[in-house]
Amino acid sequence: MKVLVLNCGSSSIKYQFIDADKEQWLAKGMVERIGMTGAVLTHKRYDNHDIKIVGEILDHSIAIEYVLGVMLSKNHGVIDFKEDIDAVGHRVVHGGETFSDSVLITDEVIKVLQENIELAPLHNPPNIKGIQAVQRILPNTPQCAVFDTAFHSKMPAKAFLYGIPYDLYKKYKIRRYGFHGASHLFVSKKAAEIMGRNYNELKIITAHLGNGCSMAAIKNGLSVDTTMGFTPLEGLLMGTRSGDIDPSVILYIMGKEGLTLHEAGTLLNKHSGLTGISGESSDMREIISAVKDDHKRARFAFDVFNYRIKKYLGAYSAAMGGLDAFVFTGGIGENSPEVRSEVCSDLKFLGIEIDEEKNRNGELIISSADSKVCLLRIPTNEELVIALDTKQIVEKLQKDKSIVNLKV
Ligand code: AMP
Repeated sequence: MKVLVLNCGSSSIKYQFIDADKEQWLAKGMVERIGMTGAVLTHKRYDNHDIKIVGEILDHSIAIEYVLGVMLSKNHGVIDFKEDIDAVGHRVVHGGETFSDSVLITDEVIKVLQENIELAPLHNPPNIKGIQAVQRILPNTPQCAVFDTAFHSKMPAKAFLYGIPYDLYKKYKIRRYGFHGASHLFVSKKAAEIMGRNYNELKIITAHLGNGCSMAAIKNGLSVDTTMGFTPLEGLLMGTRSGDIDPSVILYIMGKEGLTLHEAGTLLNKHSGLTGISGESSDMREIISAVKDDHKRARFAFDVFNYRIKKYLGAYSAAMGGLDAFVFTGGIGENSPEVRSEVCSDLKFLGIEIDEEKNRNGELIISSADSKVCLLRIPTNEELVIALDTKQIVEKLQKDKSIVNLKV
């Protein structure tokens, strides 16, 4: 089965066309600057042939038409007909409390996603736009939604409740949800596979460190806690997001600087984190380079970033009553030996010992022979999780339909 995986953001769409049976991508790319001047489509085929198209792309529907156009084209394409796309899988950020698993998209599902817009005002609207665009362009192709929140939906109440009046949780669904679910699921399962151990008997901590960062405590195959909360703002220090903060600080700044709710949100989401502390950049490569040049604030940013990961590593080891594996993933986790080394330093008492040479060489297993905890560096593949979930749902649908037809 061939699945088109779409990740629709407010002004961009990332896509991958995947042969879900062979677990291989056939084409991938991105449309950026949707609705702005100079929109760009970059497209790459499995044989590394790539192209870049610049044009006017007014909305998500036109962007998806462009993607299909390039996938169908003689010179750059990978399919002969639109119908060669067997299914479409969407990354959907917020499933709220309704969805604890991936689902086939129906009008009822779209209605629930619309009801959840308040929970994810930046993310769910473009996800819905993408789904509706595909409904128009490929009306007979089944679509599935794979939620960032789903993997964390079985967290116990002690991990997901905030210390606010319970009525507010019931009334507004204010609780911790967690995000990056597909990534945490993928790399934790891969870790068990690499270790040759049963996934359902392991205590694993995963650290997805990219522009957005989160960690998850995964015990016996279930996410029992994670650092992101009601929104992706909680937890670790990120590129431009503050992560954990005393809520009083926000009230204090709003009072002092006369900020509106929207401005306070922008401050915490766009001007904080590595950018805010360093005053230089949200990009870890630039932070590390500035640290090497003795840039004091870049050093602060680097230290806060690593220290917070280390704190959660300790907290989640305690929460699970032990630790078998710790996994680094995401742009920073996969590519920065400096961060991995800092985070794992001085943790022998927890059974964590890094092998610096393996770490520098970027090997899959980077722990020393004496380390009780297996340390791993695993490239994430959220798109593959989405493609495989979509395949499973659509195959079940096809099977159910054929049973109904037999009965008829
Ligand atoms: P992602 O959101 O997963 O694409 O990750 C983006 C982040 O990965 C940015 O902060 C990049 O600076 C960081 N990154 C990518 N390559 C490296 C590298 N070689 N060393 C450190 N950070 C990196």
